[in-house]
Amino acid sequence: MTVRVGVIGGGQLARMMIAPAVELGLDLRVLAEDEGMSARLAATAVGDYRDLDTVRAFVRDVDVVTFDHEHVPQEVLRALVADGVRVHPGPDALQYAQDKLVMRARLAELGVPQPDWAPVDDAGELQRFIDDHGGGAVVKTPRGGYDGKGVRVVRAGGEADDWFAGLAEGEALLAEELVSFTRELAQQIARRPGGQMVAYPVVETVQRDGVCAEVIAPAPGAGARVQEVAERIGLSIAEGIGVTGMLAVELFETDDERLLVNELAMRPHNSGHWSQDGAVTGQFEQHLRAVADLPLGHPEPRSPWTVMVNILGGPEQGALEDRFASAMSEHPGAKIHTYGKSPRPGRKVGHVNVTGDELDDVVYTARAAAARFL
Ligand code: ADP
Repeated sequence: MTVRVGVIGGGQLARMMIAPAVELGLDLRVLAEDEGMSARLAATAVGDYRDLDTVRAFVRDVDVVTFDHEHVPQEVLRALVADGVRVHPGPDALQYAQDKLVMRARLAELGVPQPDWAPVDDAGELQRFIDDHGGGAVVKTPRGGYDGKGVRVVRAGGEADDWFAGLAEGEALLAEELVSFTRELAQQIARRPGGQMVAYPVVETVQRDGVCAEVIAPAPGAGARVQEVAERIGLSIAEGIGVTGMLAVELFETDDERLLVNELAMRPHNSGHWSQDGAVTGQFEQHLRAVADLPLGHPEPRSPWTVMVNILGGPEQGALEDRFASAMSEHPGAKIHTYGKSPRPGRKVGHVNVTGDELDDVVYTARAAAARFL
């Protein structure tokens, strides 16, 4: 019997599961938020993922449920589990990707290295945290942030008053030490329900304006110790929280070569897009294998270097197809991935992967191909 995998959310991550699902012989079905979403080709339902009846109706025709994003409410997830539905990752794991305060507390229990942190519920508390941490801090809204929205560097307790004002009774913001990192890394792990895990090579991620711009795989100059520590951190988190599917651990590397965990994603992640063309098993295929409880594939790179450059929408509308075609024509060695989205400034509309032996050449070609969209 063909296994039917239901994906909640119709964005580009669901879209990029479609081709591997076909290759693996899985039947992929998507609950999309709207008509015309990125994963519309596989959308068998359109509706609100926060509405239990909508989600229940969708999962009636699938064997296992997974996600394009982490926003499905805990009540909905737990109701599905109580109904006997296979949900991967499950609500116990997903809570750590949904709430950064809950994540920090759990990582502390697991003994994983992370920035100093504290829950703060008013400006006075934030000011004390700032005073204890060299006169600066990073404040985060625990829930609902993405691409740097919900993250603010502050020098005074009053600089987050608008966020404090929006807190409900019993809620708090997350204050973190302002880490002076030399670069950001990401470690991906895939884990099956029974516990089998594989680790991808640690990669370097470059962010611009809080948005991932480029990824270099593997992280240049990462010595055996950094690779080993990143892998150990990733495996211990995956095991410790019982995640199933792909886990991405975002890391800060400090100038004294410490690795600190920034945050977790439990789904295919932008830091892993390189693996589609650069690894034996791409992250979308691996995620499907893991959630469908199939044996995992090798995570090893197929080439010394892979560089991924995101394509962001510009101010002009339309003509995206022409640009994709021109990038393909100028750079036939580049793999161009399109998300079928209409461009808005700053919106991720595609990415380019380039692989090769010489890092300089690979970086140059990937940037040049992505620059056809500027
Ligand atoms: P989001 O959930 O929006 O992706 P993150 O928590 O990943 O937010 O933070 C976005 C970016 O802000 C990070 O990639 C990093 O560059 C910076 N940042 C986050 N936390 C810290 C910190 N404690 N110290 C220094 N920079 C940070």
